[in-house]
Amino acid sequence: MSSQPQYSVELFPPKTAEGMAKLKLEIAQLNALNPAYFSVTYGAGGSTRDGTLDTVAWLRELHIDTAPHLACIGSTREQMRELLHHYQQQGIRRVVALRGDMPSGMGAGERGAFHYANELVEFIRAEFGTAFHIEVAAYPECHPQAGNPSRDLENFKRKVDAGADGAITQYFYNADAYFAFIADCHKNAIQIPIVPGIMPITNYTQLARFSDGCGAEIPRWMRRRLEGFGDDVASIRAFGHEVVLNLCRQLIAGGAPGLHFYTMNQAATTVRLWADLQLSEQANA
Ligand code: FAD
Repeated sequence: MSSQPQYSVELFPPKTAEGMAKLKLEIAQLNALNPAYFSVTYGAGGSTRDGTLDTVAWLRELHIDTAPHLACIGSTREQMRELLHHYQQQGIRRVVALRGDMPSGMGAGERGAFHYANELVEFIRAEFGTAFHIEVAAYPECHPQAGNPSRDLENFKRKVDAGADGAITQYFYNADAYFAFIADCHKNAIQIPIVPGIMPITNYTQLARFSDGCGAEIPRWMRRRLEGFGDDVASIRAFGHEVVLNLCRQLIAGGAPGLHFYTMNQAATTVRLWADLQLSEQANA
């Protein structure tokens, strides 16, 4: 894979036919940016299985490089093997290997064959060799279930030692958290590219809810400003654009090996950031 900076975009599978029709229009706008690849999320426990497969199939019909996410919790080895064979037949060469979170209502006995993402990475390498480039998740602000950052780093290293080629981070708004995490990785002989995950800001209520759930911090000064805008969507978006643009600039200037945009299936905010950062001119060569 290229050592040039890699700029990529993430989609989630729509639940309805109308959602899929709308997504196709967003995909056309995003594809015009020439991203390194599109990744497509997968609901842990198989909740979005069909939607993920349909979205991936649509992208492949357009010959777009696609990286399906695999969330292994609740899955058997046979199910995972089948899914990977299916993707292999579609010419897919990159996956994002995740544990996922146990869906509510699922008992401990339904955890399946894989308990942590490092076991999934080991499985893919054992069964498919180097057929797939494997991305894993990284948490510069620490995963909420990890006892502490050093234990989380040890667990991250298990995924790298199992054969991960690269990582994409949870989103964050404090560039220092990313750079400190990278420095810790280097001290621990972790050398794979770790691409920052970028979450554009369009809807504060939704962002606050997500962030509480996944342990991503919205700095106090940002919360105060965003709360102050109330229902003024235009001001939230204008402020969000400036904050995220500045974050991306700091990350690129500090040597980040790319950026991965959580588009939330809305092309416009990513397209604007991409243009202001002149990413299409720089990358994915
Ligand atoms: P792991 O790496 O397994 O880590 C989970 C927790 O267990 C951490 O606290 C870790 O420190 C600890 N741990 C890891 N290994 C061990 C071990 N061997 N022993 C003890 N403790 C261990 N979720 C979805 O459902 N679908 C998606 O498509 C999806 N896409 C994502 C994409 C990105 C880039 C990111 C950052 C997250 C995504 N998520 C997705 C969310 C993710 O599934 C959750 O954050 C989940 O809680 C952890 O997944 P993981 O792969 O990081 O797990």
